Amino acid sequence: MTIDASGERALPAVGRLLSLPEARALADTYGRELLVDALRAVVAELRIELRSSRAVMLPAADRIVRRAGSRLAASFAAPLGRVVNATGVALHTNLGRAPLAESALLQAIGPCTGYSDLEIERTTGKRGQRGAAVERSLCALVGGEAALFVNNNAAAVLLVLDTFARNRAVVIARSQLVEIGGGFRLPDILERSGCSLREVGCTNRVHLGDYEAAIDPATAMILVVHRSNFALRGFVSEPGVAELAELARARHVPLVYDLGSGLIARRSGPWCADPAELTVSEALAVGCDLVSFSGDKMFGGPQAGIVVGRASRIAAMGANPLYRAVRVGKLTLCVLAATIAAHHRGDRTLPVERVLDASQEDIRARVERVLELLGESVIQALQASAVATEAATGGGAFPDVAIPSFGIAIGAPAGRGAEALAATLRERPTPVIAIIRHDRLLLDLRTVLEDDVPELVRAMQELPDRLAATSLQTAADGRPAP
Ligand SMILES: *Cc1c(COP(=O)(O)O)cnc(C)c1O
Repeated sequence: MTIDASGERALPAVGRLLSLPEARALADTYGRELLVDALRAVVAELRIELRSSRAVMLPAADRIVRRAGSRLAASFAAPLGRVVNATGVALHTNLGRAPLAESALLQAIGPCTGYSDLEIERTTGKRGQRGAAVERSLCALVGGEAALFVNNNAAAVLLVLDTFARNRAVVIARSQLVEIGGGFRLPDILERSGCSLREVGCTNRVHLGDYEAAIDPATAMILVVHRSNFALRGFVSEPGVAELAELARARHVPLVYDLGSGLIARRSGPWCADPAELTVSEALAVGCDLVSFSGDKMFGGPQAGIVVGRASRIAAMGANPLYRAVRVGKLTLCVLAATIAAHHRGDRTLPVERVLDASQEDIRARVERVLELLGESVIQALQASAVATEAATGGGAFPDVAIPSFGIAIGAPAGRGAEALAATLRERPTPVIAIIRHDRLLLDLRTVLEDDVPELVRAMQELPDRLAATSLQTAADGRPAP
């Protein structure tokens, strides 16, 4: 039934919609009050749609109720849904960075579903220090004297600056005044912490002498910041961290290194060979007083900021009232502890380690397995083929390094562009996030976790039908199919 603007009176009353069986089921799930709100909102939307100049179909009453049901489901959905990462970027900030080890999460359940010894000394019964055991375990791993865990690395940097550099000067190379992304800009953080910026060197070159000349009685620290997401190449130079440490010691100022990603152990892959990329323990061993890094980048754990280094410095940060505002909770501590334990074992079982350490041959085998599961007709329909790809670590580590990988390229069935394919994969209940290279849709299988392979296969098998359905729907909406 197609009706025009005068047909809006035909919209069913909310009271009648409530009496439908579908509505009774929804009322049981969400409560009557929320259902009434949702029905009113849907009816109001329909009224606007009907008034719009285009002739529109008035949906049947049960479909109106179902639409209200979808609205309610969307607003009550879990805050996160699982997605299949086929981007080839191992640490993708938009996709939640490091996937967590299931064992690490399981370890958090026991202590967190009951009361816990979060801040109690078992021997004395007195108030204890939050996370003391986790701190010891981390120090044993990377070699610092003490450590502190906060909400994220941005908070760690903020806390370091607030504790040691407020109303004082921070000496930093001009080429390290970086924007990490998502609005995290080093100069802004420095300004927020009330310290003044003492930029040294030129964009491409900075010498030890530049640092030396900049240090004066107002200097609070030398700050080194990992450039994270870009590389400087060509006529460039900067002093090594060891040289800076020596200078800092001689001039009695602390050297702080914001490592960003927090590599724990050097990996065997050629992509990890860059000697300028220091591990956390190397940065401490060459003489940094404090090192900070994220928990959910190369470290492979939960979102957190980890600061490790001199005990006196860590104690001063712990005594800063700001620490109370940025410290981690018990859930994070438990998952951090389990992640640190995995690094101690060195068995490479953290998901991010598996993703990065797999050889190109391993990934090629995964590609072949997926193609086999797809079957010949789907391969034909999608014009799917195996291709060599280049994956990346992401998460602000090794910005310049391509990791040899393998993936599946998809042609353009029914003349649909790569963008339409990507959108169709993204809009399924479990989204598959792909990339587009040279106008072709590419699924890099390095970052597709073993557990996600069946979902990826399903997504690809459904793709021809889904594309056909969206073409039909677009045609039915009166808009031309792209
Ligand atoms: C990622 C990054 C940060 C921010 O870390 P969050 O944990 O996201 O707050 C800060 N500094 C550097 C160098 C980084 O790479």
